[in-house]
Amino acid sequence: MDQVSPILVNNVDVHVINSCNLYCHGCNHLANYGHGAPFKVEELVDWIEPWKDRLYFKRISLLGGEPLLNPDLKDICIAYRKIFSPKKTKLRVITNGILITKCPWLQELIQEYHVHVQVSLHVFTGKTKNEKLINRVKEGLALLEKWADDAVRPPDTKWGPYFEAKEKLNFQVFYQGAGTQIKPFQHDDIIESKKHCSCPTLQLYNSNLYKCAPIAYIGDVLEKFGREDDPDWQPYLRYEPLTPDCTDDALLEFMKQQPQPEWVCKMCPPYANVILSDEREIFQS
Ligand code: SF4
Ligand code: SF4
Repeated sequence: MDQVSPILVNNVDVHVINSCNLYCHGCNHLANYGHGAPFKVEELVDWIEPWKDRLYFKRISLLGGEPLLNPDLKDICIAYRKIFSPKKTKLRVITNGILITKCPWLQELIQEYHVHVQVSLHVFTGKTKNEKLINRVKEGLALLEKWADDAVRPPDTKWGPYFEAKEKLNFQVFYQGAGTQIKPFQHDDIIESKKHCSCPTLQLYNSNLYKCAPIAYIGDVLEKFGREDDPDWQPYLRYEPLTPDCTDDALLEFMKQQPQPEWVCKMCPPYANVILSDEREIFQS
C-alpha cells in the first residue's frame, strides 16, 4: 500500500494541565473551573505518538490551564522536542506569566531546545488590577526578553520571536450562565456560531482529536459539577472525538471539517457574546 502523506496541521493545542492559577471568567478552555491534576511526560508522549507520522504539526502549543503549574513541563518540552525537530515544528508554551520568575529552566528550554513562550497578559487588563501580580509578570517578561535575546536560532527556522506577549484578549463566551449553572445555547444557526467563534483550535486530549477546546473539556467540568445528567448538555457529552485507530479516510474527513461549522457549534452563541478583557473578572485561585 502507498504511504499516505501526513496532513498539515497549523496548530494543535495540548493541555499539560487543566487547572489554572487565575480564574478568568469566560476562559474557553474552562480552566477557570479548575478540573484535574497535571499530566505526566509519559502520558503526553503517548497522546501524540499515534499522530506524529499521520499529521504534520507546524506548531504545537503546550498550555492549559497554566502550564507552568506542571512541575514536569521542562521534561515534557524536551520529550516533545525529541519527537519534533525545531526545523519542522514550532513548540510553544502559552502562559499567563505569573510563574515565569519561579521557572529559571525556561532559559534552557528557549536557548537549547528552541521552545517559544507566549505570555497572555490577562493581569494587565481585567476589571480589578492586582499590582503585585502585574509586577511579577513584568519581572518575568524582562527575563524572557533577555533569554530570547541571548538565544542562537538554529539555521532554517522561521518561527518568529522566541518570546511574544499578548494583551487585550477578549473572549467569546460559549455558554450561558456561570459556574455550576452553565448551559449551552440552543439554536440551529451553526454558521453564525462559527462566524463568532474565538476558539476554533484543534485539541489533542487523552490521545484523541477534538474540534475545539469547549467540546474537549466540557465533559470534565460537568462531571466535576455533578451536572453530567443535564439533558441540555447530553448531545455534546455524546460528541465522539477522533481516536488514533481511525482510518486515513476518517482522518482526512475530520481535518477537512475542522475549519467548518458543524452540529456541535449549536452549543455556542450565534452572535457576539464577548467579554472584553478590560471588563473581565479575574481572580487569583
Ligand atoms: S489564565 Fe485565564 S484564560 Fe488563561 S487558562 Fe487561566 S483561566 Fe484560562
Ligand atoms: S463548537 Fe464550533 S463555534 Fe463553538 S467553539 Fe467549537 S468550533 Fe467554535
